[in-house]
Amino acid sequence: MSKNRTVTDLAQVRNIGIAAHIDAGKTTLTERILYYTGASHKIGEVHDGEAHMDYMAEEQAHGITIMAAVTQCPWKGHMVQIVDTPGHVDFTIEVERSMRVLDGAVLVLDAVSGVEPQTETVWRQANKFQLPRMFFINKMDRAGADFERAMESVTNRLNGNPLPVGVPIEGGVLNLIDKTFTTFTGTLGADVTTNPASDELWEQTEDLRENLLLGLADYNDDIAMAVLDDGEIPAPEIIWETLKQATLTGEVQPCFGGSALKNQGVQSLLDAVLKILPSPLQVPSSKGATLGGDEVEVPMTIDGPLAALAFKVQLLEGRRHVFARIYRGILKPGDTLAIVGSKHKNERVARIFDVDANKKKRLDEARAGQIVLLAGMRYATTGDTLCDPEHQLTLESIQTRAPVLGLAIEANSSKDEAKLLEALNKFQEEDPTLKLEEDAETGERILRGMGELHLQIAFERLKREFNLDIRAGKPAVVTRETIQNAGSADAIFDRVIEQPNGNIELKARATATVTPRDRDTGTEFNVAPVVLPEGTELNDEQLEAIADGARDAAYAGPIQGMALQDISINIDQIETFGAASTAQAIRVAVSEAVRNAIQAGNGVLLQPIMKTDVVVPEEYMGGVLGDLQSRKAMIQETQSDDGMTTIRCDAPLSALLGYTTSLRSMTQGRGQFTMVFDRFDTY
Ligand code: GDP
Ligand code: MG
Repeated sequence: MSKNRTVTDLAQVRNIGIAAHIDAGKTTLTERILYYTGASHKIGEVHDGEAHMDYMAEEQAHGITIMAAVTQCPWKGHMVQIVDTPGHVDFTIEVERSMRVLDGAVLVLDAVSGVEPQTETVWRQANKFQLPRMFFINKMDRAGADFERAMESVTNRLNGNPLPVGVPIEGGVLNLIDKTFTTFTGTLGADVTTNPASDELWEQTEDLRENLLLGLADYNDDIAMAVLDDGEIPAPEIIWETLKQATLTGEVQPCFGGSALKNQGVQSLLDAVLKILPSPLQVPSSKGATLGGDEVEVPMTIDGPLAALAFKVQLLEGRRHVFARIYRGILKPGDTLAIVGSKHKNERVARIFDVDANKKKRLDEARAGQIVLLAGMRYATTGDTLCDPEHQLTLESIQTRAPVLGLAIEANSSKDEAKLLEALNKFQEEDPTLKLEEDAETGERILRGMGELHLQIAFERLKREFNLDIRAGKPAVVTRETIQNAGSADAIFDRVIEQPNGNIELKARATATVTPRDRDTGTEFNVAPVVLPEGTELNDEQLEAIADGARDAAYAGPIQGMALQDISINIDQIETFGAASTAQAIRVAVSEAVRNAIQAGNGVLLQPIMKTDVVVPEEYMGGVLGDLQSRKAMIQETQSDDGMTTIRCDAPLSALLGYTTSLRSMTQGRGQFTMVFDRFDTY
């Protein structure tokens, strides 16, 4: 086991993420990596049991507590930094914010099932950030495991270009480039023996080798000659280098097989990470924009003003820490940075730490390419760009999504109130997709999040980590409102206020029109220029009052008082009555006119609509499809592959609450589904 914890040369660093569909073996693989690299001396086995509960218990007990946001694994003179990416789609934001700062990814597949719905989700996210990636085809010990078929699913379902490199065969891994055969024996497979591959194995894998070389022929003339003209096969170094270049551009994905549980192939995968995935110095420039909105390229270099991205906030030992990736320049403790994003403020970095949170090694400086932990920042949060105040810019940020599900949470006794609020504030700080809100009507405290599991985990953490005695209501879908047709109305505000030294009259009249807009286009305010009766002029305060009045009315819809969207608000006319038309009078008249116009526009509720993929064995397809239709899902397409059918549909979130359980009982536990919020819409 390598002991070199400190790697100072960035060329020796790999920032990677491990992503997979649930149960493919991400946690098991990660734990093996931690063990072999000496980052952890315990090996925690994932317990057997009911899959869903297993996932939760495990992510909580191991996934969240053992893994810091970034874990350092020293391997053969290099430092592999694993940035944690949770598997469930409810935590998509977690996946995206870590993907944003990764230089490469290892996607884990189950060798029996191949590509699964969530593999597709992470694949799309990886595409978005143009991440070089490779596959670990896990669970090769299972009956029905098939390395080549799993690769085919990458081609068919992801449109990928997988190339075999580490072939699991005869109780070891055959390396098609080095012509070696590696076995993993001894305690937890820690004894690695590599020998030249026998001629017999070499012949058995001839087809795969040809696939590999053919896949690289476009990138290197010597390799092309070797496959097309029976030329001499180039030296392994040339093939590795070509493979790396093609991987970095995202054109191919090298594949390695093994079994994390049976301790097979993990070290070969680590070796390949060093060879194939890029160091921070080899990644392409980042995209950014000046404050004026001009696009800029930010090459990864220590020369130039500081630019960094905050990608996670975590409270460690009760203190706020910001995980940041430096993209340009050098950061030193005591430097003042401008935060561009959630706020626009300057803030000082008190201390900089190495990301290996357990050890807390203080750093005198951090350079472009590094991922570091910043202490002393109170405001910077996930997605913010941190930069030199004299050279401000925004780096391509991380999209946060609207929370679509709410859970009422209450303390059973009032003595827990303050503690509950404090804990909820901490959660919101760490996770921008959790939002605490108060129901205006009932006064209930509602925690909003991305899905059932997301909220359930938050609820259970409150109970367990904070020892709180709390109860939760039923999850409720967050709704919005809009209008179905245009509407116009006018309103007169006229009131006499009695005062000791004479009555004051407040009076104004407004006419407003509202019109529906396309879905997901937001609310548009057209408050000026307004038609005024001849001779009337409005002062700034009165003009401001018009805008305020319109905004007051747009705050809540006519049906359930939910936020309005996709509507255009026009103030057509304002009539004033001398001194009686104070700003206040105008504001009230406008808001009433708009509210009346919205009423005339026929309000309608909008529900979160989810893009949903359901994967079931073919024999269950009829039943599942019928059930989906009864849930008002709009079926987009169905696709069959290898006995499994994928149904793609749009469905209202409200109809999908508890669907995990229904789907399981309809398919004897074999069906799976994923959903991603798409839009607020009628259905
Ligand atoms: P994750 O959801 O992707 O993190 O997957 P886990 O690591 O939690 O594994 C899910 C289940 O698959 C657990 O029961 C593991 O013991 C099992 N598992 C993981 N790797 C392997 C493997 O290589 N072979 C077999 N047969 N089972 C495995
Ligand atoms: Mg896991």
